[in-house]
Amino acid sequence: MTDLFPENTFTDADELRTFILAGNAKFTVRSEVTLRHFTYKARKPSDGQTTFIHRLAFGGTYVYLGTIFPNGEFTSTRKTLPSERIGEAFVAFDWLWRWLTEKGRMPLKVTIWHEGRCGMCGRDLTDPVSVKAGYGPECRRIMLRHGMMYDR
Ligand SMILES: [Zn+2]
Repeated sequence: MTDLFPENTFTDADELRTFILAGNAKFTVRSEVTLRHFTYKARKPSDGQTTFIHRLAFGGTYVYLGTIFPNGEFTSTRKTLPSERIGEAFVAFDWLWRWLTEKGRMPLKVTIWHEGRCGMCGRDLTDPVSVKAGYGPECRRIMLRHGMMYDR
């Protein structure tokens, strides 16, 4: 796990939602009550319409949890293992996503940070501006061109 620097943390619901939907996002959510944390991968398949959510499992592998559909809804699908559907990581992401989409606010008493990689292409972020933004320079240009928000 990457060390936690303030620059890595998300404080704005719209920015975090944009990051999760950027195509290649990795981020960690930690409860400040229980101090339990989950790391997620949010990847867009080539159709560019949906976003697949995986959780980091023991041993560094990722396990599929569900899909964010174009209408903004996150649900489990046929490919979700039954044990995952009731698992803590699924419940935690579902809860987070509802805060971001239904309330449009950051949830309370959690810390969420990206893992030092560009949310769009997944490459390592090496300069302070990119780390703060959560995207590398190339991807920031693409996002600006498409009117997507990245300013942090
Ligand atoms: Zn990038």
